Amino acid sequence: MTSATTTRLADVETRIASAAKSVGRAPTDVTLIAVSKTYDADAILPAIEAGHVTFGENRVQEAQKKWPALKEQFPDLKLHLIGPLQSNKAHDAVALFDAIHTIDRPKIARAIAKEIAAQNRTPELFIQVNTGNEPQKAGIDPKDTPGFLELCKNECGLEISGLMCIPPVYEEPAVHFALLDKLAHENGLKDRSMGMSADFEAAIELGATHIRVGSAIFGVRS
Ligand SMILES: *Cc1c(COP(=O)(O)O)cnc(C)c1O
Repeated sequence: MTSATTTRLADVETRIASAAKSVGRAPTDVTLIAVSKTYDADAILPAIEAGHVTFGENRVQEAQKKWPALKEQFPDLKLHLIGPLQSNKAHDAVALFDAIHTIDRPKIARAIAKEIAAQNRTPELFIQVNTGNEPQKAGIDPKDTPGFLELCKNECGLEISGLMCIPPVYEEPAVHFALLDKLAHENGLKDRSMGMSADFEAAIELGATHIRVGSAIFGVRS
């Protein structure tokens, strides 16, 4: 069955493939995280039935309401946490999510490390970088990347696979994507989580391995 969602999903996949090819990258090097926040299971199902397996949510509590049942029904699904995490939610986050993109302070790194050990889970982990140094935004200061990575690895024993950013709304995102790519490269990290509905092609051209796309797939959120 086709729906508006499956049509939009196919269109996004086509655009990913052309953006990747334009810079000589394989489309399969880019993981599309379909961001389903605010949408319920009925709205998500067409994407799952079309074969999509990777989804993103920005709130632990909202995700807990819809994903355990879906994951039971479709065991191949992978769920990514892309929103801010409080340490008192670390237990639930590690239990439900297959990837966490928003590690940005020692307290969270320690809480996640403790839960990973206790639950014997191995989520993919990203450090969020505040590339625009915006006071209201989560993420580490770009210049603290080596030090925070060191703390995650050596003190907490976490295996960090990459970096994540959300560029400032009113700035050219490409500058921020280029900075995140440079920081990942300098620190020997393979993954870059960057690019959303409005700018994922630019992100792919600048090295994104994970793009987080919501409204271009599910429609504009109310
Ligand atoms: C909501 C959200 C997205 C997706 O945004 P769209 O513009 O709908 O594609 C991506 N990343 C984060 C962190 C989000 O919270």
